[in-house]
Amino acid sequence: AANPVLDRAYDFEEALRRQDEMRQLAETDPLTGLFNRRALRERLEREISRAERNNTVMSCLMLDIDLFKRLNDTYGHELGDRVLVQLSDLLRREQRAMDVLARLGGEEFVVVLPETGMRGARIYAERILRKVGAATLCTAQHPVQITVSIGIATFPDERVTDTDSLLRLADTNLLRAKADGRNRYRD
Ligand code: GH3
Ligand code: MG
Ligand code: MG
Repeated sequence: AANPVLDRAYDFEEALRRQDEMRQLAETDPLTGLFNRRALRERLEREISRAERNNTVMSCLMLDIDLFKRLNDTYGHELGDRVLVQLSDLLRREQRAMDVLARLGGEEFVVVLPETGMRGARIYAERILRKVGAATLCTAQHPVQITVSIGIATFPDERVTDTDSLLRLADTNLLRAKADGRNRYRD
């Protein structure tokens, strides 16, 4: 027998659940399950304001897989996609509760480390470089090794006033890491 009050409560819960699902879908990169670019910008804005308000520090690392086009051209796009997923999993294993992981697009990722200054960001970058370099990705039959380059930006910094300038600084430093020979970080 229908109970209109319970039915209404159920409908409401269902609507909330669907709203939550929709929001999650809108924030997520479908391949890796990490935050997408839009969600990243939102989180970065929040973290910058929080750091400003609380007079604390934060870091943003931009990671880009080295010579990924060659990997795709040699082994195919499908293997490339699997490498992207496996790198995401590796980053997730290194993630602390407050850290934000996002895929910016292509083979570019951003990690936001709240409450972390340059010293902590460098330690994190070194650990990621070591773990990625040591990891054998894909399958045992088809082992693949990759390296990444990393650009670090921290806040506060006289060049950083907002999300755009923070990402720009990280990108500039990423390009320096590439130019200096890849498989390294610059800040
Ligand atoms: P660099 O070390 O300078 O970063 O060289 P790169 O080859 O990684 O950089 P480039 O920007 O020239 O190429 C990026 C390549 O990433 C191009 C494309 O083949 C590949 N790529 C981008 N998005 C995806 C994706 O979603 N899946 C796969 N499998 N490959 C992608
Ligand atoms: Mg790239
Ligand atoms: Mg690349």
